[in-house]
Amino acid sequence: MKFHEMDIAALSELLQSRTVSAKELAEDALAAIAEKDGRYGAYLTVAAEEAYRQAEAADKMLADGTAGVLTGIPFAMKDNICTKGIRTTCASKMLENWLPVYDACVTERLKAAGAVMLGKTNMDEFAMGSSTESSALQLTRNPAAPDYVPGGSSGGSAAAVAAHECAFAIGSDTGGSIRQPASFCGVVGMKPTYGTVSRYGLVAYASSFDQIGPLTKTVADNATVLEAISCHDRRDSTSLPEYDTNYSALIGKDLSGMRIGLPQEYFGEGIHPEVAALVRKAAEQLENAGAVIEECSLPAVSYALPAYYVLCCAEASSNLARFDGVRYGFRAEGFEDLDQLYRKTRTQGFGREVRRRIMLGNYVLSAGYYDAYYKKAQQARTLLIGAFRELFAKYDMLLAPTAPTPAYKIGEKSSDPMEMALGDICTVPVNLGGLPAISVPCGKITQDGAELPVGFQLIGPAFSEAKLYQAAAAYEAAE
Ligand code: GLN
Repeated sequence: MKFHEMDIAALSELLQSRTVSAKELAEDALAAIAEKDGRYGAYLTVAAEEAYRQAEAADKMLADGTAGVLTGIPFAMKDNICTKGIRTTCASKMLENWLPVYDACVTERLKAAGAVMLGKTNMDEFAMGSSTESSALQLTRNPAAPDYVPGGSSGGSAAAVAAHECAFAIGSDTGGSIRQPASFCGVVGMKPTYGTVSRYGLVAYASSFDQIGPLTKTVADNATVLEAISCHDRRDSTSLPEYDTNYSALIGKDLSGMRIGLPQEYFGEGIHPEVAALVRKAAEQLENAGAVIEECSLPAVSYALPAYYVLCCAEASSNLARFDGVRYGFRAEGFEDLDQLYRKTRTQGFGREVRRRIMLGNYVLSAGYYDAYYKKAQQARTLLIGAFRELFAKYDMLLAPTAPTPAYKIGEKSSDPMEMALGDICTVPVNLGGLPAISVPCGKITQDGAELPVGFQLIGPAFSEAKLYQAAAAYEAAE
């Protein structure tokens, strides 16, 4: 097997035994990107010089005995996470040439661990979308089926892992943006409990939902990366206090006695029958591995999609107010006064989807409509949190499809925002609840000659990551 096709665990062994150097791995990964990325378009920026610098530092750590499991491992970073001196575009014209003056907490953590960043990955503009088609800069293709979308918004990160153009990637998940592209591309993706990974240096979309997490080739690798990037960070006011973050602790332990609920609402209307069948098959495998599977019900989930879209647009309209041509990034030319500068800059700098959400957000927050939309959506959020809490009194976790369908063709849904939003129906409840959930590949659907990956998600109560990894790893081992 070629180096770039290996997982973190295998590469780490080769590095620790000095069979290969970090520099050689960086060379190999950059060669894979040069060979393949013209086809897939996963990367917006390849940072070769920086990668070699970090590889050199990693080789020093390996030589002097300060290396850890991620030292020398090549990875890709979503382009809404700040990297000092390396452009961070959010796939928007607004930030096309923006160079951050500081590193995000996640960037710092991975640098300190000796991991080697290869570059920055494509995404939906400001993480708003589900197919990476709203990127203003580039098209990304699904490596499993190049006429199909990779999912989104972390589509570039998922594609880079699936195409073996990195050993792992970092994404962000506001309403499904790690899990849904993981499902579409056939990789593992975790959205951790809200507050687990610092949002310092993550360009904000909807701050009460945004969470950073890993996309990997295996479940064990995913736990390894999450252990490296989670921490308490006082620069993020919603960062959790220190707690036990040994996420790998239960991997390999058997599942006997574990109770898993199958909420029927996730298997009914709007869910592709073959997706539902593959997820039910996964349930059987988990049962064979010792878990107790039971049908259950979560009616409050029907509020999730409208509540999510009201709240995320409201938060986005506030967060994106800072992009006005005065301080950051793009500034339109030919303005006569300040008002015109704002107007022209924001009209030209933001794409359609971003403008649509800013307008919707302003609408639901406006004095006359606040109670009808924003307040109602917050109430629905509270209801849903309560409903999840009741279920978690009975079950250790819930099993559901990650997305209602497999990947769709490029262009198929991009002109219909409603159709696109319906694809988020399975993922957004988790973000409304601040819960952790992992997407794991569970088979493929053949369509027009293409083999399209499908994933299931395991959803747990806050802080249940170790258990989710335990169940996911047991499934993966039985596959
Ligand atoms: N597709 C959802 C949206 O467009 C989720 C995006 C995300 O998680 N960043 O809002």
